[in-house]
Amino acid sequence: MAEPTTREEYDRRFKQTYRISGRGLPGVVMHLPCPFCAAAGWLDQPLFDPARAGSGRGPDVTCAECGRSAAFIYAYDGGSSTVELVQTGGVDPPEWVPCRRETERPTERPTE
Ligand SMILES: [Zn+2]
Repeated sequence: MAEPTTREEYDRRFKQTYRISGRGLPGVVMHLPCPFCAAAGWLDQPLFDPARAGSGRGPDVTCAECGRSAAFIYAYDGGSSTVELVQTGGVDPPEWVPCRRETERPTERPTE
């Protein structure tokens, strides 16, 4: 499937590729599509993940289709928690993609 070129195509593809599986709080997994092109299979994220309680950074995940990378950044200030998704690699997405680039880009790894 081609990379979406409009927000409408992106939203339509996201609805097709996003799904939830499992049952019971510990067993539910969100199957997240790529945040930039909505390709399926970007990241399987447990809905309830005790390892993610608190501040920290998730792994950089690269989309197999568009080659862009992103990571979740978790922040907990004692009263509330936030989750932010930032782009960490790859070419700039269209301006209508709801994800900002991380201020500092990581060092590019050599291609293998
Ligand atoms: Zn992608």
